[in-house]
Amino acid sequence: MISFLDLKKVNNQYETELKEACNRVIESGQYIAGSELDSFEVEFSSYCGTKYAVGVANGLDALSIVLRAWKEMGKIKAGDEVILSANTYIASVFAITDNDLTPVLVEPNDSTYNLDIQTIEKSITTKTKVILPVHLYGRISPMNEITLLAKKYNLLILEDSAQSHGASINGVKAGNFGHASGFSFYPSKNLGALGDAGAVTTNDKQLADIVRSLGNYGSYKKYENIYKGVNSRLDEIQAAMLRVKLNYLDKDTAIRKLIAKKYLDKIKNPLVRLPEKCSDENHVWHLFVVRCKNRQHFQEYLTNTGISSLIHYPIPPHKQQAYEEYRNIRLPITDKIHQEVLSLPINPSLNDEEVDIIISSINNYTI
Ligand SMILES: *Cc1c(COP(=O)(O)O)cnc(C)c1O
Repeated sequence: MISFLDLKKVNNQYETELKEACNRVIESGQYIAGSELDSFEVEFSSYCGTKYAVGVANGLDALSIVLRAWKEMGKIKAGDEVILSANTYIASVFAITDNDLTPVLVEPNDSTYNLDIQTIEKSITTKTKVILPVHLYGRISPMNEITLLAKKYNLLILEDSAQSHGASINGVKAGNFGHASGFSFYPSKNLGALGDAGAVTTNDKQLADIVRSLGNYGSYKKYENIYKGVNSRLDEIQAAMLRVKLNYLDKDTAIRKLIAKKYLDKIKNPLVRLPEKCSDENHVWHLFVVRCKNRQHFQEYLTNTGISSLIHYPIPPHKQQAYEEYRNIRLPITDKIHQEVLSLPINPSLNDEEVDIIISSINNYTI
């Protein structure tokens, strides 16, 4: 069976360095807020091109704490509207509702799976305060256009970069377009820790300081609490693991791009719709998502030929029990996407032979 993602195989490539880094932390005696985190924040902000990166416990917290910080700064208030694409992973929506803000779920572009400026503009009201572009599957959103629109309407931009580490437009990377961005380093992400981890990137010093404080019980100075904060910290072991893996991120991304190119060039089956081609730098291929009208049949066929696949995602946020209040919104493009999408294996530990098997199996698929 060709596995979808074998994390042991991925991390085994860096086994010696990961173990050394882990030992370094054990020996240091400092397990929270030490030099590994300081160094990772410098290295990751430099990778993204931003002035600041602040480590937090996970990607959901990264997004949620930025919104909370903007509330503390008086930039937004409860009830304000945040525009995002309806086909995102539910964490993007939780970050909004956790802060008593109102998510405005809009249809994504049916080919890029990201927000388009036309649909955003139609959804702007007097209560709109934030646009939250999710760079879904690793493809960056049209950030130059979104930035112009945000300026026109005086809106904040919070990028959800959880799937798009290193994707760029004209050399500017994900995480460096918005007023802030949230990253996840969940183990299966393109830059994955060996546990939970996340970060906020921004060029705004005040925001970076407040985010750091909010994640540390709302305090700058021990035992003096300015905000009703939370505990959301990136620990030393995970920071050390991420420092090792950040060195290989571009190499791993290059492998993902090669596999994607092979799939795009060689998969030829009218029953299977491939992702839209785009500029090489725009997409880091966190997922390679195809569409099939009879997805269940196609997925069963792949399983029977020894190929694992996954669905990202089977149920859109507005159809989840957690969001019963949105059950009646009409989002036909989103609903259709969720019925048809299927993710093929694409990760740096997939070998050439496996890629060829996947291509020929799909080319042989019939109804
Ligand atoms: C993974 C992910 C998140 C959440 O990250 P966690 O680290 O799991 O909290 C948020 N948004 C998107 C688009 C994601 O893929």
